[in-house]
Amino acid sequence: MNQPQSNLEGSCACGATRFELVDKPLFVHACHCVKCQKAAGSVFGITTFMLEKDIRLVSGSLDAEALDDAPHRFRHVCTRCHDHIYTTATNHPATALFRVGTLDDPRQINIDAHIFTKRKRSWLTLPEGVPQFDEGYDRQKLWTAANLKRLEDAIKELDVQ
Ligand SMILES: [Zn+2]
Ligand SMILES: [Zn+2]
Repeated sequence: MNQPQSNLEGSCACGATRFELVDKPLFVHACHCVKCQKAAGSVFGITTFMLEKDIRLVSGSLDAEALDDAPHRFRHVCTRCHDHIYTTATNHPATALFRVGTLDDPRQINIDAHIFTKRKRSWLTLPEGVPQFDEGYDRQKLWTAANLKRLEDAIKELDVQ
């Protein structure tokens, strides 16, 4: 929707690993489901879909750790402080679920939609003009055509390699 044009920089907690986002996210949603609340340890989780190739390492290094309960999913963590920067999954090639709070200035990223609002906290008022859904949403309808194409092209690129 309304994402910044310039590169955004971020780091892990210890600062050894720095990275920049060289292109905009594909889509950003806030999910109010119980699972996301638990994972975030908060009232909602923010899922930032990036193309993995658009997260460029500037310094430090990342380890890819398979999750115990989902070995096809990998957490990419700083090799020094173990801070979690993004997640990939082999069944979703080219995509990274980026942890937006690791940016130096996460205010630069806007939320494109709120989902599973049936579990939203009653004291939380969502901004008008941002699409809201009781449960999930249809990516084909909500993501811009340009971003659906970016994902399709990135998957094709991987197939060629
Ligand atoms: Zn969720
Ligand atoms: Zn670190």
